[in-house]
Amino acid sequence: MRPMRNRVEQSPSSAGIKKGDQVRVMTGRDRGKTGRVLAVNPAKRTVMVEHANMIKRHTRANPSKNVKGGVLEKEGSMSISNILLLCPACNKGTRLGHKVLPDGTKERICRRCGNTLEK
Ligand SMILES: [Zn+2]
Repeated sequence: MRPMRNRVEQSPSSAGIKKGDQVRVMTGRDRGKTGRVLAVNPAKRTVMVEHANMIKRHTRANPSKNVKGGVLEKEGSMSISNILLLCPACNKGTRLGHKVLPDGTKERICRRCGNTLEK
């Protein structure tokens, strides 16, 4: 028998990752990099992470809009499964859990240390 604990469940769609979260990139060229989540696309299960997975965009000069031609670097999206949320309390990559508070609101918690991840 396992002891009773607070009910912890995982969100199926975006894995609970939200814009503004600190995450660590787990795979690819930028493995080990940490950054802030700039955007989440729950439908595609992708995220954009600050300074990670930079892609080069070739832009054409457009003098009327004061746009310079050349190569522009920009964050590319990556799969949510390739990143791990960083817990600010234990400062490690963690998986998310959810805790339901007595008033019914859900709080995201760190599965490692149990600390809340809400700001
Ligand atoms: Zn933690």
